[in-house]
Order: sequence, then structure tokens, then C-alpha cells
Amino acid sequence: MKVLKFGGTSVANAENISKIINILKAGDQKEKLVVVVSALGGTTDTLLEAGSFAKNGNSGYINSFKTIETRHIETVRALIPVDKQSGVLGGLKKILNELENTLEGISLLRELSIKTHDKIVSFGERLSSYIVFNTLRTQLENVSLKDSREIIITNDDFTQAIVDIETTNSNITSFFKDNISKIVVMPGFVAANKNGETTTLGRGGSDYTAALIASAIDASILEIWTDVSGMYTANPKLVKGAFPIENISYQEAMELSHFGAKVLYPPTIQPVLKKEIPM
Ligand code: ASP
Ligand code: MG
Repeated sequence: MKVLKFGGTSVANAENISKIINILKAGDQKEKLVVVVSALGGTTDTLLEAGSFAKNGNSGYINSFKTIETRHIETVRALIPVDKQSGVLGGLKKILNELENTLEGISLLRELSIKTHDKIVSFGERLSSYIVFNTLRTQLENVSLKDSREIIITNDDFTQAIVDIETTNSNITSFFKDNISKIVVMPGFVAANKNGETTTLGRGGSDYTAALIASAIDASILEIWTDVSGMYTANPKLVKGAFPIENISYQEAMELSHFGAKVLYPPTIQPVLKKEIPM
């Protein structure tokens, strides 16, 4: 099995999502694929903005919500054939209604707990995975969607939750043991505590979701697709002469990410290191 993670830029719009679909269709069909997706680029920030407007009783949250709503509806319209659109839009609207109700609640109470914060930001990945799954489903057979919150279990440290590795590993392995889909789409970043309440793994945490799955199922490869083609000797957006590093140890990759290499979320390396070097 292969695990492929697509970041916010890769799923930012219908055009980019189509490119992903082509990558998945062109891939080695013999291997089963797990596809982990981030929110449509910038959505998490807009959700945070909406939450903070609502908390301050500022009706600007309605505009932020509408921006998110329009963007996702337009993405569905551009990707899904007309005869299948209404069903997909119906499901999308259900998720969007839940977001709108949550924002309304925050605005009425003028209160935004970290628990509600996580609920709000989870909508980014819930919406993107729903869209990627439904687009794939119109083009390929044997595709399924699995909500990561049903199998990735954390403690109650909302916004930066710590994964219960033992429970999570056993949930992941038993889910994939029985699953016969060729492609399973999953939202990155989101998880749940033991009571089923939504938690998140920290900003940039979709990489970590993908690594947790790859490690638990002993994937043949974990590919992290993003707008920068690898780990560079320096930030390629700032340093002109930076070049991609051909090989890097897990230890060095972890150090680089701790020192600010945004290409990889630091805890992503942990599942691998824990397996290879008992710590
Ligand atoms: N959407 C989340 C964020 O913007 C997680 C991720 O993209 O990895 O931080
Ligand atoms: Mg990232």
C-alpha cells in the first residue's frame, strides 16, 4: 500500500484537484492507495478568522463563512459532472450547515473554547476530503472515504492533541485489514478524543496524519506532495542558490523541520523513528 498526502496548494482549486486525480489514475494500479488531503489552501485561516469574528460578536463571520461556502460549491461545480452535482452539493451543504450553526452558536455566546476551535478548523479537511472523494468516485470504481476522526485517537489537548499511538495503530490496521477499496481518501489534521469529540494535530498536521497511517500499515512508501519539490539546503523561497537534498536521514529531516523547514511538520518523523530506533 502507498500513502499519498496532498497539501493545501495541491487541493487549492478545481484545476489542481484535477491534477491530483490524474496522478492517482496514472499511478501503479496494483497497489492500494491511501490519499490524505489538507484543506483547500487558505481555508484553515479563513475558518480561524470566522471563529474569531463570531466570538467578538462581529457579523464579519457571515462573510468569512460565505467565502468558504462559495469556494467549495464552485469547486464541486467545476469538478463533478452536472448529472451528479445535486447529490454531491446536498452532502456538501450538510457539512456547511453544521459549520454555519457552530459559528452562530459562538456568536450568540461570544465564547470560543479550544474544543470549539478544533471543531471549527476541522471543517477545512472535512470539506476537502469530501470533494476529492466524490470527484474520484465519478471517475474510478472502488473508492471510499474514511473519516480520520473514527480511527486517529488523541488526548484532550485540543489544537495540539497528542496521539494515542497504541489505540490508533490498532484502529488503522483493523480498518485497512477489512477494507477492499483501491483508494481510500482521508482528511488530514483531524482526529478525535476518547469521547468522540473532534481534536486536531496542530497546524500543518496533515503530514502527521499521513505518517501515522503509513507507519501503521507498513506502507511501501509515503509521498508528501506539495508546492516545493523536496527538502532543500535552505528555504528556496528566500535563498536563490538552495538546492534539493538527494538523501536525508530521518534524524536530519526531523532536525530540519524542527528548525523551521515548513515542508514537513516535525512530528511526522516520529512514527518512523519510534519503529526503527526504540526510544
Ligand atoms: N489545514 C491545516 C493547516 O492549515 C493542516 C494542514 O494543512 O496540514 O494547518
Ligand atoms: Mg504542510
